[in-house]
Amino acid sequence: MGHAARLARIREDVARPPGLEVCGAAYEGVGIAACVATGLAAAERVLEVERAGVPG
Ligand SMILES: Cc1cc2nc3c(=O)[nH]c(=O)nc-3n(C[C@H](O)[C@H](O)[C@H](O)COP(=O)(O)OP(=O)(O)OC[C@H]3O[C@@H](n4cnc5c(N)ncnc54)[C@H](O)[C@@H]3O)c2cc1C
Repeated sequence: MGHAARLARIREDVARPPGLEVCGAAYEGVGIAACVATGLAAAERVLEVERAGVPG
């Protein structure tokens, strides 16, 4: 219960320091496919920060 709201809060907090990401079974599904998808999306966002040269 309350997972979606908790997840939204975590995403908001994690978005503040540039380059910080979370992924894996605790967030958007425990299946391997969901874990890989959140991992790839997190890696993409980290790379975007790297490419933009934002100090983290
Ligand atoms: C027995 C079992 C069978 C499963 N079968 C299936 C299945 O058939 N199909 C399916 O889709 N899903 C299955 N799952 C679920 C799926 O495997 C997991 O939900 C998924 O692997 C979790 O991925 P994750 O990256 O979040 O965590 P993990 O795969 O647990 O990865 C976390 C990693 O972080 C490391 N780590 C932890 N703490 C630290 C630390 N302090 N410092 C450094 N490293 C750390 C760990 O060693 C680990 O390598 C199964 C799970 C289990 C337990």
